[in-house]
Amino acid sequence: FFTVGIVFSKLSSIEKKLFKSFSLSRAKKNLKKLTSIAHIAGSKNDKILVDWTVDQFKSYGLNDVTVEEYWPLINFPAKRSLTLLKPTHFEASLTEDVIDSDKTSRDQNAVPTFHGYGGSGDVTGKLIYVNYGSIDDFRQLKDLGVDFKGSICIVKYGGMFRGVKVRAAELAGCAGCIIYSDPFDDGFVKGKVYPEGPWRPPTSVQRGSVQYNHVYQGDALTPGKPALKNATRLPFDDANIPKIPSLPISYADAEPLLKALVGSGHKALDIGKEWQGGLKFDYFTGPGEATVRLNVNQDYKIRPIWNVIVKIEGEDTSKIVLAGNHRDAWVFGAVDPNSGTAALLETGKGLGDLLKTGWKPKRSIWLCSWDAEEYGLIGSTEFVENHIDELKEKGVTYINVDTSMGDNFASSATPNLSNLIRDVTKDVKHHKFPEFSVYDKWLESSKEKSPFGLVTPVGGLGAGSDFVPFLQHAGISSISLEFRGEYGVYHSNYDSFYWIKETQGFKSLITTAEIYSLTLLRLSDSEVVPMSPLHYWLELFKYSTDLVNILPIEVSIKKLLESVEVFKLNSLRFEDRLKSINDNKKRELNFQKEENINYFNTEQENFKLINEKLIFLERKFCLFKDGIGKRRKWYKHFIYAPGEWAGYDLEYYPSIREVLSIKGENRIQTMQYEVDKLAGIIKVAADYLGSS
Ligand code: GLU
Ligand code: CA
Ligand code: ZN
Ligand code: ZN
Repeated sequence: FFTVGIVFSKLSSIEKKLFKSFSLSRAKKNLKKLTSIAHIAGSKNDKILVDWTVDQFKSYGLNDVTVEEYWPLINFPAKRSLTLLKPTHFEASLTEDVIDSDKTSRDQNAVPTFHGYGGSGDVTGKLIYVNYGSIDDFRQLKDLGVDFKGSICIVKYGGMFRGVKVRAAELAGCAGCIIYSDPFDDGFVKGKVYPEGPWRPPTSVQRGSVQYNHVYQGDALTPGKPALKNATRLPFDDANIPKIPSLPISYADAEPLLKALVGSGHKALDIGKEWQGGLKFDYFTGPGEATVRLNVNQDYKIRPIWNVIVKIEGEDTSKIVLAGNHRDAWVFGAVDPNSGTAALLETGKGLGDLLKTGWKPKRSIWLCSWDAEEYGLIGSTEFVENHIDELKEKGVTYINVDTSMGDNFASSATPNLSNLIRDVTKDVKHHKFPEFSVYDKWLESSKEKSPFGLVTPVGGLGAGSDFVPFLQHAGISSISLEFRGEYGVYHSNYDSFYWIKETQGFKSLITTAEIYSLTLLRLSDSEVVPMSPLHYWLELFKYSTDLVNILPIEVSIKKLLESVEVFKLNSLRFEDRLKSINDNKKRELNFQKEENINYFNTEQENFKLINEKLIFLERKFCLFKDGIGKRRKWYKHFIYAPGEWAGYDLEYYPSIREVLSIKGENRIQTMQYEVDKLAGIIKVAADYLGSS
């Protein structure tokens, strides 16, 4: 029952043809080219790769390729230093060592270690260690009587988006924030470090954005509007970026700082097990004598960035399926993001070959190579903001691939697309275990993790890559696909072609391309869009019943549960309609068509109407004018938003969370209002499904 046999025979003849186009040697060659130069957003090298990317797509026979330019605010560090002043003197090196066997790492200063959208300042203060720097970590120390005013905190990477850590520090009153990679999380505690193994070596640093993106994503100066050259911009002081300076550092640089805290404040292990990291001494919180000076000067400028957009016209140009990946990297970006870029390029090659045979997809396809994702999903967000009307009118699904390297498949998606991912992965061979499908291995590892898990887990979409503007701002159903491995060099100089060669191998590039393109093809070329509203109901039901654990008991969720019930009934009815024209038959249709058999002449189901409902259901969960609340009005989706204090992980029913912490007389009334408003939104979506 559990082992699903391999069913590659399910591939249609078009899909089989598509797979024949892929080539590991070309994917490798493309990846080598993409990673031969450091290509941070807006740089000269970035532009070189933009032109190269255009040339590749064109050489695959794709003719409609355009470069879009935007002008966001971007920073690059003019000055960085970190000094321990007391009790001993130590100057942090802030540099990643050369590794001789890794050719590109010889360019040690390709990109300095810094925080995208980070603050500037020259500050001196007492050092305090605050675990992972979550809002709860700060709260916990505050409750123990620690005063953060004017201090400089040092926190570990991990758990949540780094911008959340800096924001928690700023709110606590810190003058500066240092974030380091602890060996427990991706260094020697995990295994051998690079170049002996895949894990983070002592001087390696995780760069990354610290934008306060809980309010909006994209360019920090043009929320909700495209950052065109002549755009109206916010004053710099109103941008959603930290006011305090911050720096990312290595564990080689962190060690003397943490050692200087030993004996002062609270012993980490007395607070909680996870407060102790992987360095070989007892961590302490301080403050004590240890004093540091953090001096960062960020050079902020409006700079150009470039998206590459490939358009493939479908029979029906009023519907567009989009697939995207970012191209910009902190340094060489072999895994993040160019493993995905290699798969996107293969997808382009495959589609180009199909077009040459006279094939045309039913719906239009756009392939997108985004810029400046690393700073804050800028390229994709400005694109969505620029083309918002067209996207809302025509967008079917957005499929994202960012990093994809290793043997473990993982995916997140809006619930209506989870079954498509399961189907697709059943039809793709696993590169490491070719006698199994990707689905088989995925199911196996899910069962290892949770013995009661009968289905492969498709997670919900939070934040962290370019699907955010599509789902959260335009209300387009979205998918994120990836392979995961032992990835210890995230956002460092060592995320290189050589690291992949030495520690992973390249085979997952082609498996990624197969999954990516199959997902894209089935969404764009099936008669009926492969989406399932019933799966949305399952999630809505869970979230709604869960709400009682979050809301005060005076707030009634009766109306909400009623709406969810209507959603259930209408989606069950809808699934019945779908079943009668089930998608396997739809794909067989391709064979029939080729052989001129009119398989469906008895089916008079109105595909157009069914497809519209499947596609626009997601839009119904959004209020485009006001968004989910005054503070977060850029976020339009009432079922999902990125968790304010998680950053990457989602939070469901975000409009209700917006009012959870309010105080005063109208508290219950306001919450009731928001719950009923949500009930209304879900009811509208349910009625939309139910109407004929
Ligand atoms: N993927 C990048 C990161 O996690 C950017 C995410 C963002 O800025 O939202 O650092
Ligand atoms: Ca903008
Ligand atoms: Zn990425
Ligand atoms: Zn990244």
